Amino acid sequence: MSAKKMNMTTKILIWMGAGLVLGSLINAFASDVKFVQDYFVNGIFHVLGAIFVSLLKMLVVPLVTFSLICGVCGIGDINKLGRVGAKAFGLFMLTTALAITLAITVSSIVGPGKNFDLNQTNKVEFVAPESPPLSQVIINLVPSNPVTAYAEGNMLQIIFFTILFAVCILMIGERGKSIITGAEKLNEVMMQVVNVVMHIAPYGVFALMAKTFSVQGLGLILPMISYFGVVALVLILHATGTMMILLKVLGRVSPLTFLKKMRGVQIFAFSTSSSNATIPVTLRATEKRLGVENSTASFVVPFGATINMDGTAIMQGVATVFIANVYGIELGLTGYLTVIGMAVLASIGTAGVPGVGLIMLAMVFNQVGLPVEGIALIMGVDRLLDMMRTAVNVTGDAAVTTIVARSENSISMDTFNDPNAGNVEEVHLPHKSS
Ligand code: ASP
Repeated sequence: MSAKKMNMTTKILIWMGAGLVLGSLINAFASDVKFVQDYFVNGIFHVLGAIFVSLLKMLVVPLVTFSLICGVCGIGDINKLGRVGAKAFGLFMLTTALAITLAITVSSIVGPGKNFDLNQTNKVEFVAPESPPLSQVIINLVPSNPVTAYAEGNMLQIIFFTILFAVCILMIGERGKSIITGAEKLNEVMMQVVNVVMHIAPYGVFALMAKTFSVQGLGLILPMISYFGVVALVLILHATGTMMILLKVLGRVSPLTFLKKMRGVQIFAFSTSSSNATIPVTLRATEKRLGVENSTASFVVPFGATINMDGTAIMQGVATVFIANVYGIELGLTGYLTVIGMAVLASIGTAGVPGVGLIMLAMVFNQVGLPVEGIALIMGVDRLLDMMRTAVNVTGDAAVTTIVARSENSISMDTFNDPNAGNVEEVHLPHKSS
């Protein structure tokens, strides 16, 4: 395979591996070498990585807006819109509940933290953040100022405003047609921007991985191996088990094809640790690679990135059992049921950005009376787990999008089954021919 023909996902994967190895080597052998730290870790890697994440985030708001306008106007029917929304919401809640139930079950069997020596780790202070009450979460769905919502990238408020706006375009009938055509063109342009950004992705992913692993180091995992191992195990079980069964049974599609086409998206999620920043890539993959129509994908993908966090729920389930074991606290069935309910609710109110899982965990612990300072114990390994769970979070978003699209008959199975559909195309910069 020549370098030119190599497909983008393979290329990104290779650069990701290189970043991981280089970062780990720096962590092991050059963590005190000032030159390496100044010029590479906090220099090139940091700058490139940060620029890459900003590039992705830069796309989210305009892409979601134009894509959602096209999507809603494409559906053209308020009942169908409600139905798609209700199905997606129901499935998001179901998959999150299944994820955390699996996590609690597996960790109750394995028992991480049973013989944990509280003195063996250097404790870091953890200050529990304020958790917003449910009423506020609901009130916050409606932006009092759309410009603020856009400026802050508040996804649920942006979705609310854009849907209302698009429905009203439909309501003005013929006169709204030109706005729809405009939005379609703008959407096409934004998709092209995604395409361009994908071309520099291998180097961005390399920089992010090199930076993270030179700072984190795999040695951190050792004292926490039981906790880390169980979270990783359940993440894999959920992504390759539960989710695939749902895809097969409810979506009637090949889980293997789905997983293959999701590999690129998972790498982006893994290296950015943010479902939100990954939205452009998830949207592109669900539409161009999996064949989901824009009318479904444009709505369900950003909605899922905000409210659906299966991987995060898994970390919370395992963390609950782990901390309960470490502190010798019996939670009992009611305690665990409360944890499941709380984790599902908490996932609605928090956005898919790095590290938010720990904040949600504090809400859950508060509710069931577990010591919130216990979170300090697991903070050290959270960065690495955040990467892994974010990959599972986005896989869940795309799986639900596919299932909903299948039930609405808004997916092209030809595209889904075509292994080359939606491969990143060559980009040609425009030149004036003289
Ligand atoms: N980083 C995760 C996401 O963006 C959320 C979390 O678990 O912290 O999906």
